[in-house]
Amino acid sequence: MPTRTYRPVQVATLASGMDLILPLHEITGDRDGPTLGISAAIHGEEAVGVEIIYRFVTSFDLDGLAGRLLVLPVANPFTYAANTRFTPIDGGNLNRIFPGNHDGFLTEQLAYAVTEHFLRKIDIYVDLHAGGAYPTVDYVYILNAENLSRAFGSRLLYRPREALAGTSISVTRELNIPSVVVELGGGDVDQSEYVRRGIAGMANVLRTLKMLPGDPTPPPAQIVLREIATLRPHHGGLLLPEVTEMGGEVRREQALGRVISPYSFEELEVIRCPFERGIVVLTQLTPNVVEPGIYGFMIGNLATAES
Ligand SMILES: [Zn+2]
Repeated sequence: MPTRTYRPVQVATLASGMDLILPLHEITGDRDGPTLGISAAIHGEEAVGVEIIYRFVTSFDLDGLAGRLLVLPVANPFTYAANTRFTPIDGGNLNRIFPGNHDGFLTEQLAYAVTEHFLRKIDIYVDLHAGGAYPTVDYVYILNAENLSRAFGSRLLYRPREALAGTSISVTRELNIPSVVVELGGGDVDQSEYVRRGIAGMANVLRTLKMLPGDPTPPPAQIVLREIATLRPHHGGLLLPEVTEMGGEVRREQALGRVISPYSFEELEVIRCPFERGIVVLTQLTPNVVEPGIYGFMIGNLATAES
């Protein structure tokens, strides 16, 4: 039976008198093996990752575990509590300022603590993201561990030309730690299917690493995207989506959604597919109130995709 220890790390005392902690869990198997780090809620509004981790760690059968899981279910508690992307106290985006700064703004101090107490302690890394409070997303990045990215089992993968600076992955890649970033779920819809897939994906990654007994389930036919357009509205209002099939195909100029004014009822903007043949990677599954510049839609370019 694996041994489970909760080992919260104290980062700072806040003006409220409360402690800012990194909630670290260690699950240690009976057999030797590597340390796999799993994190969620680096962006707190991407909350489904927290539930995936909770259920995976507390309910999934981890008997026969080799090595150790080091688990950080809520990397930015401020954003998790407020259901936001940016730390309310200083406006920081935790996933743009890694490796952080011990003497910096609060979010930079948090990033530094995550780097020192978590990222530097692991051998393999899976970071769970999601669409957010409104958008829903479904793909996995291929970074420096294609086999593990594929093993998670999502149908769509994304091989970016370069990694985004300041992400937690920028730290682990520099340390040559095989890293997988999952974008799964989110939005104001039932998350149970995403939770189920998240747990199955984690199990499959562990089986691929031989950290859990049993053969991994082969992934479905997968599409590797080389280009994804992020489409952000220029007007705020009520966004009425027209494509609500995740992974569905869209064609050039097809309307993806309309922003209307809930005040004057005018149509302020139509957001359209920029590619000859596109595939829906992130969308709004419900009509949502939006501000300009939010994640509206993400469309993969099928013309440059690897199949
Ligand atoms: Zn995120």
